[in-house]
Amino acid sequence: MAPSDARATGDQARKGVLASAVPPTGLLPPGASCIPSTGAWPSGGSSSAAGFGPSPKPWPTSRTGSLPSARPALIVHGGAGTVPDDELAARQAAVDRARDAGWSSIAEGALAAAVAAVRHMEDEPLLNAGIGACLNADGEVELDAGVMQGDGFRVGAAACLRDVRHPIDLAVAVMEDGRHVLLAAAGASRFARDHGLEMADPSVFITDRKRQELMEGADTVGAVARDAGGHLAVAVSTGGIRGKLPGRIGDSPIAGAGFYADDRFGAVCGTGQGEAYIRLGLARLMLVELQHGMDPVSVARGAVDHLGKALGALGGVIVIGREGSPHAAFNTPAMPHAIAE
Ligand code: ASP
Repeated sequence: MAPSDARATGDQARKGVLASAVPPTGLLPPGASCIPSTGAWPSGGSSSAAGFGPSPKPWPTSRTGSLPSARPALIVHGGAGTVPDDELAARQAAVDRARDAGWSSIAEGALAAAVAAVRHMEDEPLLNAGIGACLNADGEVELDAGVMQGDGFRVGAAACLRDVRHPIDLAVAVMEDGRHVLLAAAGASRFARDHGLEMADPSVFITDRKRQELMEGADTVGAVARDAGGHLAVAVSTGGIRGKLPGRIGDSPIAGAGFYADDRFGAVCGTGQGEAYIRLGLARLMLVELQHGMDPVSVARGAVDHLGKALGALGGVIVIGREGSPHAAFNTPAMPHAIAE
């Protein structure tokens, strides 16, 4: 286990989608992708019809498909933002505990590990998820969560929850059910009850009203894992942003914006100004870069760079590729995170 220091400096030379997502002038030639190709496909191959560069080699899409053995890894974050000095150590300790909770489940698979880490953080009152989440403009907690497995495009998410004790459990239930990928508000609560999930009085999420009202920055929690079978998974949970309009949904339950996983390329999770992640489709862009052979460090740094340059937004990301170590990058003063591998 080792801490990672991947603070984006913004001046690293890099190439790729996230450094130049918008063509400088005019329309693209017919048939061209708006996303420039950024590198060689790891296994080579010919151009794909979709215009995303060389085609991926065939890959099993079923959970029963076996992958070559991989080195397990887990990265957990407790949100990018401004962490008051007197809270930094406590928030890092909370994230370390979540990393340990997740890592102890890694033998059960990447999904189990990522969910265990996030579920733990939903119980840490200093983090913006579950208990202790920030308050909306009406002084209430509304929670969002999402989960994705890198095998078979399996996604589940839930938003605007007030009475579901563990939003991440509901995201998993939505994914397992498989009919939809995102449920919100009253319908999501009903689905949670019907599936026997633990419900809660909305007041349990408020432990320190004043602190939760004033919470600074963005502090969504998230985890990305790779298991020994080479499967990837991502889990994310949040109270959103302080003072948000009631009913606002951020990027955290939106696959392709706040999170994404694909066993062929990698898995990513974001934290920060959710509207910016949605506008940029940032998680999906990161996957395209990984697909085109960029290394996870450059992808992570490029993502926060793009966030800042394109929209002046703040945030952070965590990334795991098909192999190698996990990485984090952020353009905020802090993003407590922890790695196990
Ligand atoms: N991305 C989250 C949202 O906009 C906020 C955060 O990361 O804390 O809902």
